[in-house]
Amino acid sequence: MSPRKMKPKNKVKRVNIADDERDITTSNESIEEHDDGIYVVRKISGSTSNKPYRCPGCDQIIPMATPHTVAWLEHDQSGRRHWHNICWSKRNLRKPKVERTRNAPRY
Ligand SMILES: [Zn+2]
Repeated sequence: MSPRKMKPKNKVKRVNIADDERDITTSNESIEEHDDGIYVVRKISGSTSNKPYRCPGCDQIIPMATPHTVAWLEHDQSGRRHWHNICWSKRNLRKPKVERTRNAPRY
């Protein structure tokens, strides 16, 4: 307990970055057009994900340090969601494009 070893630390500059904002700095962004709007899609490499997220595609947890996809509607960044890469690509395939049976003649 010697007081002479205590140095004033108020000179240290601290950059305040919230954990969740850190992955914003990695710029792997792309724009995807979906039926319900324009999405900004960002591929997250595992090293930048530092907490588990729940994937809305399969309702499973994406473990920490797992590469995954973050996507949100262009105008609504606060609504961004974290997806497994595979679930996000499945989502694109799920588009209901088949409408041809509705007016098809019956035989
Ligand atoms: Zn998933």
